[in-house]
Amino acid sequence: MKGTCLCEGIIFEFQEMPDLVFNCHCSRCRVSHGADYATQIFALRSSLRFVAGEQLLSEYESTGGIRCFCSNCGARLMNYAKDGGDYLSVAASCVEGSENLTVTANCFLSMKVERSTLDEATPGYDELPESL
Ligand SMILES: [Zn+2]
Ligand SMILES: [Zn+2]
Repeated sequence: MKGTCLCEGIIFEFQEMPDLVFNCHCSRCRVSHGADYATQIFALRSSLRFVAGEQLLSEYESTGGIRCFCSNCGARLMNYAKDGGDYLSVAASCVEGSENLTVTANCFLSMKVERSTLDEATPGYDELPESL
């Protein structure tokens, strides 16, 4: 799949894991993404390739990992674990065609805001389960 930020200065490609698309309701994602939850696509970290603008990528470390955004337009792009795990989560908001992916889990429901409604058919977890 292909992702790009708002100013289109950063363009990247990655191999998605289609069964692992989740809505993260944690408070860090809510503030960071400016939304009631963030839809994230799991990807193999080794598959990430920058087509343009890697030098524009900025990182911010918070609980739960490193959060990457465009230093020019501020668009949120991806998160990954500080310890260099094999996976990263890519913000669906910046990915072409992501509207066609099915959300397979709701995570960090322990922090969900009251007004967010959930699809009852989608599995929900209080935190981010190890099995994801
Ligand atoms: Zn940008
Ligand atoms: Zn989160």
